[in-house]
Amino acid sequence: MINTIRAVVAQPLFFLFDHSIRKFFIFVSLFLVALFLLGANIHIYNMSFSLLNQKIVTEEEISENTVNTVTIEKGDTLNNILKRENISNEDIQKIISIAESKNLTLLKIGKTITFEYTLNLIENDGEELTTEQKTLNMISFEIDNTKSVDIVKSGNNFSTEINSVPLTKLITKYETIVDSNVISSLKTTGLSSNSIVSLINTYSHQIDFQRQIHPGDKITVITEKFVTADSKLSHHGDIIYACIETQGNEYEIYKYSPTGGKEQYDFFSSEGQSIKSTLLKTPIKVVRISSTFGYRHTHPVHGYGAMHKGVDFSAPVGTPIYAAGNGVVEFVGWVSGYGRIVILKHSNNLSTAYAHASRFASNLKKGSNVRQGDIIAFVGTSGNVTGSHLHYEIRENGKQINPANFKSAPSIQLTGMGLAKFNKFKNQISHLHSKLDDNIEIAAADIKEINLF
Ligand SMILES: [Zn+2]
Repeated sequence: MINTIRAVVAQPLFFLFDHSIRKFFIFVSLFLVALFLLGANIHIYNMSFSLLNQKIVTEEEISENTVNTVTIEKGDTLNNILKRENISNEDIQKIISIAESKNLTLLKIGKTITFEYTLNLIENDGEELTTEQKTLNMISFEIDNTKSVDIVKSGNNFSTEINSVPLTKLITKYETIVDSNVISSLKTTGLSSNSIVSLINTYSHQIDFQRQIHPGDKITVITEKFVTADSKLSHHGDIIYACIETQGNEYEIYKYSPTGGKEQYDFFSSEGQSIKSTLLKTPIKVVRISSTFGYRHTHPVHGYGAMHKGVDFSAPVGTPIYAAGNGVVEFVGWVSGYGRIVILKHSNNLSTAYAHASRFASNLKKGSNVRQGDIIAFVGTSGNVTGSHLHYEIRENGKQINPANFKSAPSIQLTGMGLAKFNKFKNQISHLHSKLDDNIEIAAADIKEINLF
């Protein structure tokens, strides 16, 4: 409590004033702390027990299957594909030797290899999903429409199985109006946690889920759904389309490939811009969303304002922090108030800062090149903080600007014929949208008019 109040009052000031003035403000802050505590105590006594009980956090571990299907292209080798999946060298050797014995290393262009992983997630009170590591379960080689050969991992060993019952791919629409919490609202629709995480990560260039989503907002997701022969859900596949309606704005994303190739797809906005932009709006991949919407907006430490020139993302200690864009490390070290901080330079006038880290990525030093999405540091509590979080700043010409207002250039802008083709695709998705009423599913094989990859 004391820490919370102190940081609310003092943290923003730490960033603004130098040493001598700072001392004066610490004094004033402590005085305000005393005043706040008096008020807060009265408030706590007035709270009912049921309210206090809600503070108990229950942690639940969820395991879900997630898959990645790779379509074999010209020039692919099994070794390259396994490397792209980040499989360990030790496992790659075992997989290749077993694949050779079953004639699976002669890859056929156009066939698929599906990787099935277990994704472990931690859920707190049904509000937070924390991405944990993926573990490989199985690699499935498509032989024809009804048969696959699976390399199954058990412990450290691999064995093969012939699988002749294929999964059916359905296209389903999920719709929800956000109530107090975005994750629980999405979960009530039947969307798997793994899909919710990928939805939020896909939107990480455009939407700050910790601040921009409000009760009453509408979320629509059209996604692939794989079911077994007895109609049981196996897993959700790729998101095909999603729309978030918030505060009078519509954020639509379309899974689309400008070349028509299965592997070159990207997510595009309704204006035909790839949503991957020069800077990420959310440089962490953890999905942690507080249910107290109103409080968050007025909280001076969490939001951007005259006194707080950045945005805070609460996340557990050790959560990876990603480079928001391609750039060069300008500073890595300790700055008073900020604690452990990384500053990246993206262009002559644009830089980003990531503060309060617990540690830096190994090998990260001044002058290192980083790419968007590289891990640069880990969330912590260093410097002047109240709890573990990332303090993120975007700086233009050395001055902090509000990340919510920052518009970064899209990496692809479709124009001319390309845009016309995309607009046609959008119309087809819109037809599909109206065909798919909530929870009504269409077999992907029956959707002939749209190239859904
Ligand atoms: Zn901050």
